[in-house]
Amino acid sequence: LEKPQPRRLTILGSTGSIGVNTLDVVNQLGGREAFEIGALTGNGNIELLAEQARTIGAKLAVTADESQYMTLKDALAGSGVDVAAGRSGLEEAASLDADWVMAAIVGTAGLGPTLTAAARGADIALANKECLVSAGQLFVEAVKAGGGRLIPVDSEHSAIFQCLDNSQRPALERIILTASGGPFRTFTREQMAGVTAATARTHPNWSMGLKISVGSASMFNKALEMVEAKHLFDVAPEQIEVVVHPQSIVHSMVGYSDGSVIAQLGAPDMRTAIGYALTYPKRPALNVDRLDFTKLSRLDFEAPDETRFPALRLARTALTRGGLQAAVMNAAEETAFNAFVEERIGFLDMADIVEAVMERLIDCGAASTIAEVFAADAEARQVAGEIIAADEKTA
Ligand code: NAD
Ligand code: MG
Repeated sequence: LEKPQPRRLTILGSTGSIGVNTLDVVNQLGGREAFEIGALTGNGNIELLAEQARTIGAKLAVTADESQYMTLKDALAGSGVDVAAGRSGLEEAASLDADWVMAAIVGTAGLGPTLTAAARGADIALANKECLVSAGQLFVEAVKAGGGRLIPVDSEHSAIFQCLDNSQRPALERIILTASGGPFRTFTREQMAGVTAATARTHPNWSMGLKISVGSASMFNKALEMVEAKHLFDVAPEQIEVVVHPQSIVHSMVGYSDGSVIAQLGAPDMRTAIGYALTYPKRPALNVDRLDFTKLSRLDFEAPDETRFPALRLARTALTRGGLQAAVMNAAEETAFNAFVEERIGFLDMADIVEAVMERLIDCGAASTIAEVFAADAEARQVAGEIIAADEKTA
């Protein structure tokens, strides 16, 4: 039985890159005439959050930053939009009666609220891949238990979701994630050693938030996406391939036992994947660039280099070890990313730190509850912090 077209929406992380694109899609599909917006949430950018909430007529606006509560309240005075802040505010946003929730907070900060939305049966449009990397099968089971659907928004996973025919599931051989290779695709390790966050964030094809941009440069984003793919599509680690495709036109592919490969192509624009998740199983009419094949000069594919980009090797390690190793990798990566942005460590140190944390916590086991996931996440952050501090001392 097909669910009715979702009309009540909540956007967790509306002020970010995915959030802004989601509101653009919502507006393209009729805006407040067509949708009822439950909650919008943000963190530091109060002005944008308030403007979004007023314009779209949200019921509730939430800033994760408690110290900004009064600023947000003032900004929305007289608008009729309710205001909340902090962790409890995010929980309130996730609990609102929206039947479609865009999970677009960055990092593990999104896990709690996304699980809350999942538990009450909302359809989860998942951009916040860290939820799945960290909590893995427990996250998938939480969505299932709630009764909602889990629809990927990450462009690669949306592509696979669009290509995967479940009636042909027994013939599924492999999924092939494409990776742009990021701004340092052709850099030597020596060149990478000196780069700053400002250069690392300049992605050749996509305009995105800071963490995922740096993650594209280090290929930790692809590492997270390998784990994301395992849980979304229930495939074995050896069925997940990565190929570098610098033009970001082929968003990912599915290979079958007859040698066929099905690909999804499109302009590098997240609104296609967001629109698909919002209207699934239908397709929306979107004002995005169309591919002109006569103008695409070429599509290149190359093998990823795991020596220059150790993140891919670490993801494979996490996948084969299983259990909480991916949660550990994810938390260590977030900690190392923060230290890199603060210029406390270099670009190449990020992978070294993640690997060291994974080795240190190799016996972390598997989780049977979300609380155990949060505990492993906290422990990995602490160990990563200690390694970073020790390195700073000796530097
Ligand atoms: P972003 O940094 O642009 O936005 C993040 C959002 O989360 C903002 O609304 C911010 O206010 C909020 N936020 C930040 N810290 C928070 C905290 N501690 N608590 C609550 N809210 C907080 O990030 P983005 O690029 O939009 O990415 C969001 C998620 O989507 C990430 O998981 C990313 O990997 C994924 N994703 C992004 C893209 C993209 O094109 N940007 C593509 C695929 C997947
Ligand atoms: Mg992606």
